[in-house]
Amino acid sequence: MKVIVVGAGVVGTMHAWHAVERGHEVVHIEREAEARGASLRNFGQIWVSGRAGGEELDTALRARDLWEGIGARVPGLGFRAIGSLTPVRNDLELAVAEAALARPDAAARGYKLLTADEARAVNPALRGEFEAALWCERDAAVEPRLAQLALREALVATGKYTFLPDREVRDVVGRGAVRDDRGETHTGDAVVLCTGAWLSGLVREVAGEIPVRRVRLQMMQTEPLGEPLTTSVADADSFRYYPAYASPALDALNAGQAQDPTGAAHKMQLLMVQRLDGGLTIGDTHEYEHPFAFDTLEDPYEHLTRVVESFLGRPLPKIRRRWAGVYAQCVDTSRVVHRQRVADDVWLVTGPGGRGMTCSPAIAETTANELGW
Ligand SMILES: Cc1cc2nc3c(=O)[nH]c(=O)nc-3n(C[C@H](O)[C@H](O)[C@H](O)COP(=O)(O)OP(=O)(O)OC[C@H]3O[C@@H](n4cnc5c(N)ncnc54)[C@H](O)[C@@H]3O)c2cc1C
Repeated sequence: MKVIVVGAGVVGTMHAWHAVERGHEVVHIEREAEARGASLRNFGQIWVSGRAGGEELDTALRARDLWEGIGARVPGLGFRAIGSLTPVRNDLELAVAEAALARPDAAARGYKLLTADEARAVNPALRGEFEAALWCERDAAVEPRLAQLALREALVATGKYTFLPDREVRDVVGRGAVRDDRGETHTGDAVVLCTGAWLSGLVREVAGEIPVRRVRLQMMQTEPLGEPLTTSVADADSFRYYPAYASPALDALNAGQAQDPTGAAHKMQLLMVQRLDGGLTIGDTHEYEHPFAFDTLEDPYEHLTRVVESFLGRPLPKIRRRWAGVYAQCVDTSRVVHRQRVADDVWLVTGPGGRGMTCSPAIAETTANELGW
């Protein structure tokens, strides 16, 4: 079989990976010289902890295993099974962590409640004030700026994979066939459009208005911390956003403890992961209303800096980079992905939302299974 994959973010790259794994030839077409979308702008968190029970958690756990296996074969993507800690500071926050531990799927996530001293034994950089921490053993991380490149290098080495950058696919022109903006037609046994958050142009023409929305986030990265941050770190505001934490205890937290006004205004939580160079990737905000801002705002960064410094008990290193990214999310957020047949032998796969980096290996595996690759 020959598979045409359009879009070289993580979703497209993982489709290429599974197709090649199953012995097929892949032509991978990307509009940019290198992918520059959500897949490079994210935290690289392989995030199991907050997933909704059921299909979403199953997908994340399967994907996490796939990442680990692929990471062993492609060390350049930087897979680390580092787990995560969510420090809590008072009884209201602690009760949400305890409710999470009482979930029937808590063991599958590797949840454990640690005292502050136990948390510091796991992650000594957390010298700030907190009472306890929710540990999620299954959380992991990869290097988003390197992963696609490392995967591609491994794919090229198979001899079954061709990367065609700097070509925008403009049309579906027949069974399993697309045309790019150089006028060339690419025909395969299957075409998978993994075009991320670009919902206009090609996608609107072939699929119409799909039940997927765009979400914009602000991020930053520091100079090296100068010491290891051995786990990912989240704050209790993340309880407010991730479905796994829905509980009467969360209702009590929302009712009894107002979110910081800047955090609330920008729908923020703290997520933080250390890069291989020692810098910290820190975020995030959530913007849903269009038109999106074209600039980044300082208030959210100042808020995140305060939260991080309070956990680390020390000043943050200088900020080296600030950026924003946009992902595509199914409007029905309980759906893991939007997978739609848009023409004979042509499929659109988009909308994995804020879990696309985590879930992409399993999403692509499902596509491969469903299409009988
Ligand atoms: C700031 C931020 C932080 C995030 N953090 C995490 C995280 O830590 N963990 C997690 O699981 N998820 C995270 N996510 C979500 C995750 O990054 C996305 O769900 C995922 O990267 C989507 O991958 P994609 O391949 O669909 O899209 P993209 O990475 O955007 O790739 C789509 C590609 O398609 C190309 N393309 C589009 N149209 C065409 C065309 N017509 N022809 C050719 N090429 C085309 C684009 O140029 C682009 O390279 C985050 C997202 C953001 C924005």
